[in-house]
Amino acid sequence: MEPIKTIQDLIDCYKKLPGIGFKTAERLSYATLNLSPEEREEFIKALDDATNKVKRCPECGTFFDTECPICSDPKRNREQIMVVSDSKDILTIERTNGFKGHYFTLKGTLSPLKNRTPDEIGIPVLRKKVETDKVKELILALPTDMEGETTALYIANIYKNNPDIKVSRLAYGIPVGTNLEYLDNLTIAQSIRGRVIINEKDNKDHE
Ligand SMILES: [Zn+2]
Repeated sequence: MEPIKTIQDLIDCYKKLPGIGFKTAERLSYATLNLSPEEREEFIKALDDATNKVKRCPECGTFFDTECPICSDPKRNREQIMVVSDSKDILTIERTNGFKGHYFTLKGTLSPLKNRTPDEIGIPVLRKKVETDKVKELILALPTDMEGETTALYIANIYKNNPDIKVSRLAYGIPVGTNLEYLDNLTIAQSIRGRVIINEKDNKDHE
């Protein structure tokens, strides 16, 4: 027997979430029906608050409800920016406690095939932030796939002949083709320490 329409609607909502197939969506839907009235209120309020009160920081892309905990922290170093392509990576890096600078989240990585241009992913905004905040170092924490590499090289090239701005990227410890969210804290912390400069003038590969 098919679930009645009201339940089917709930199942369809759960199915919109990543990693949730029909079976899980069905299980979650029936579990939701079994919540006590108090739990149901709590559930609805949390969903409502999360979708209505949470904003994305215009500077770094982190989610926040009152003020961005990273950008508003005066102890953090504005002259050092970690560039990520997905704001989820910020949380992952923050958990390592290995970085005390600021962040910038690109809207994805460069991809000619998918029509993602430098303008589209926010490179001009990044350049402006570098200028305004007198940034001295950009640490690129981008995916190690082709598109991530292309983006890293593109940014390194912008500052290739600029002696005032170092461009580095996370180095060893990260397996090729892996996203940051799947890595353990130690691996990420090690990669931050072992980052390599990629916009030095004598780097023949990138000229
Ligand atoms: Zn922020």
